[in-house]
Amino acid sequence: MNKHYLIIGSGVAAVHAAKAIRDQDPDTEISILGEEGHLPYNRIKLTKGLFTDLHSEKVLIKKEKWYKDNRIAVQTSTRVTNIHTDRQQVETADGRMITYHKLLLCMGARNRALPVEGAGLKNVHTIRDLEDADSLKASLESGNRIVTIGGGVQGLETAWALHEAGYEVTVIEAAPRLMARQLDETSSKMLKETLEQAGVKVILHTGVTSITGVESVTGVTLDDNSVISCDHVVYSIGIVPNTTLVKDTPIDTRSGIVVNANMETSAPHVYAAGDIAEMNGHVEGLWGGAMEQGRIAGNNMAAAEPVAYRKAVPVTFFNAFGISLFSIGDTDEARCDQSVSALENGVYTQIFVKDYTMTGAVSWEGAAASLTYKSAIESGCSLEGIDLSRSISEIMTEVKRRLQS
Ligand SMILES: Cc1cc2nc3c(=O)[nH]c(=O)nc-3n(C[C@H](O)[C@H](O)[C@H](O)COP(=O)(O)OP(=O)(O)OC[C@H]3O[C@@H](n4cnc5c(N)ncnc54)[C@H](O)[C@@H]3O)c2cc1C
Repeated sequence: MNKHYLIIGSGVAAVHAAKAIRDQDPDTEISILGEEGHLPYNRIKLTKGLFTDLHSEKVLIKKEKWYKDNRIAVQTSTRVTNIHTDRQQVETADGRMITYHKLLLCMGARNRALPVEGAGLKNVHTIRDLEDADSLKASLESGNRIVTIGGGVQGLETAWALHEAGYEVTVIEAAPRLMARQLDETSSKMLKETLEQAGVKVILHTGVTSITGVESVTGVTLDDNSVISCDHVVYSIGIVPNTTLVKDTPIDTRSGIVVNANMETSAPHVYAAGDIAEMNGHVEGLWGGAMEQGRIAGNNMAAAEPVAYRKAVPVTFFNAFGISLFSIGDTDEARCDQSVSALENGVYTQIFVKDYTMTGAVSWEGAAASLTYKSAIESGCSLEGIDLSRSISEIMTEVKRRLQS
């Protein structure tokens, strides 16, 4: 069998895997098969830059020349429909059989569908790919009132982009607070107030039971039976890994494709990385994780000695509604021994401490300040001997000193 590294899916995990393979193996054929009609692009920009030119070269992860220079063949508009692990072949929608000696599954995830009546009406949107963003923008030509469902990062970034573009936005979140996965209670409350001051209506702790309308959306019904009239709905309520392709194969799946620390699946010669991969019962679903998992998988497909993936401390930046905040590490109060919070010079910060080390931090100080917190959390810098009743800036000055010594 000829050597051929084959990658299914053309997102960020695929690109970083291809790069890592090429770094290890300068000669062997590498192919990326992606069902979308574009070179791999920066999916994050779809909400952060919704009203910018998303078809610009700037949105691509790598320019066309890079693939050419590195002899990585990207086949766009190519959907893989079957995998035959016994024959080491995949089948494409246009009937081709492609042989691999190593296969990497990077099919990513799709947005979780809204499980309510009316979700199929015209003007109900979700944003996962470039076509979704294009179709949302095209439909916005009529109607000004938009309900966004989901108060996570992606939902709020969408709400911000729509608000900035002049639409009347209402955010509905089923949980009692916004960005509950990343923020402490005080920050969530402050965030809600910021949105409201900007003119966005926020409804928390409330589910949507149906979307009303005949052909197009006219409103959403909430679980208290109230109705909010609107012209568009955009929802963002989590992701589901795209595992359908491996359903009839021996590759193990749970919520994602199960991988070990070397990014190997249960089938020989088959690896998985990114939003499709489940490691230790967890699908990361984050850009940085997909990038690093792709790099590790690619390396291990080509290198003599495998390296293990190490999950990075999760970092979320939120820059919208005129604020710049970050959340790093574990910000669950229930899992720490102690937390310290303060509003100093108009900036709110909370740090989370367990076993005398900082395990998490939330701060409205702006992205530049995040580096010290990140280093302290990643390195497990000891806080022993630091008086935690001092101001946060005094605590962080001492942390910085310890990190540098
Ligand atoms: C709007 C938006 C905003 C986001 N913002 C953030 C953020 O701020 N921070 C953050 O950390 N993360 C963010 N994310 C998540 C981040 O984008 C993902 O974690 C990352 O893109 C995952 O990369 P991936 O390569 O695993 O998969 P994907 O980027 O999902 O790429 C998978 C590709 O595989 C293709 N594919 C699927 N099945 C097949 C098949 N059978 N044949 C061929 N091709 C196939 C898909 O069409 C897709 O192109 C955001 C996601 C979205 C959608």
